[in-house]
Amino acid sequence: MKFSDIPGHDRVKRHLRQMVDDGRLPHALMLHGIPGIGKMALARALAQYIHCTARTPDGDSCGVCPSCRQHSSFNHIDTFYSFPVSKDGSKTVTSDDYMSEWHDFLSRGMFMDFSLWHSLLGKKASQPLIPRDEARALMRKVSTTAHASDRKIVIIWLPERMNESAANAMLKLIEEPFADTDFILVSDNPQEFLPTIRSRCQAVEIPRLADADIAGWLVGAHGLEPQDAASVAHMAEGCMTRALSLVAVDDNGGNRQFLDMFISLMRLAYQRDVARLRIWANDLTALGREPSINFYAFAQRMIRENFMYNFNEPQLVYMSRDEESFSSRFARFITVRNAPRLVEAMNDAMTDIAGNANGKIVNFDLAIRVILLLK
Ligand SMILES: [Zn+2]
Repeated sequence: MKFSDIPGHDRVKRHLRQMVDDGRLPHALMLHGIPGIGKMALARALAQYIHCTARTPDGDSCGVCPSCRQHSSFNHIDTFYSFPVSKDGSKTVTSDDYMSEWHDFLSRGMFMDFSLWHSLLGKKASQPLIPRDEARALMRKVSTTAHASDRKIVIIWLPERMNESAANAMLKLIEEPFADTDFILVSDNPQEFLPTIRSRCQAVEIPRLADADIAGWLVGAHGLEPQDAASVAHMAEGCMTRALSLVAVDDNGGNRQFLDMFISLMRLAYQRDVARLRIWANDLTALGREPSINFYAFAQRMIRENFMYNFNEPQLVYMSRDEESFSSRFARFITVRNAPRLVEAMNDAMTDIAGNANGKIVNFDLAIRVILLLK
């Protein structure tokens, strides 16, 4: 990973490479910010830059020296990753037990999505944590002499996902004066981990991505039309994983599927077709809890955008072309009277589903409320 592979974050990149160039890289660095903005990618680019033997004049790693190539294939001998893993019965586990899943995860894209990682671990029931034995395993690795370079780098993803005994062991490790080892912590929420660890780290806040950086990435890496990319970027509020989930660049056509489900809901509710709304409610339930919540977030946005559509102010409307072609006929049904109540009804549905209520009942109930509100 080179700095130039990562969209946006110019100021942070400059700051990080300057630290290395000036020999001011702290012993423990913490990159923190909301999920899905490229913090891990920056950590990886920084590690690669530290190890690169032929840095370019514009301040990046070369990408082709043996060290850079090892970084690209996650095989750099002096770079260690620590991350939350699931327990395997009573057996003690560390990150090492999940290295192939981790490499698979990292190679799927540069923006980290914890729910994807959780599903790759394959043990849905247990909450992934950095285990207590992790610090001991790391200690073993960093106390052996460096092989390929003069610096060892430990990258810890989500240090907030440690229980207290694991955190205390990790604290000892970070305090240990290993002169040739740098720690890079990548955190979504530093407030959640031990203040004693936090105070040992130099913090660098990673800001949300700019809309233009997200849009540029969606066009360049995912082939979106500029108009669609701009509206998705606006909705994503600086979070690339959010943008990617909105365009659903996955195999089952996610966002188009959400639009189809939204159109069905509105059509069937308008026709008061209760029997088919029941089927609709069951279909949505079958997608699963998380996708159902995402669907309602999508539907709320559609309500707002359709409401705005009526004002004939195109610069206020953020829709893809498919969405807009539906709205050109549908928007007149969304009024100042029902728009807030539709959004509220969907909010209730999201809360209920997040609170483990029966999805079929919640979705059907929502559908009935939509019938009444569209009247
Ligand atoms: Zn290089």
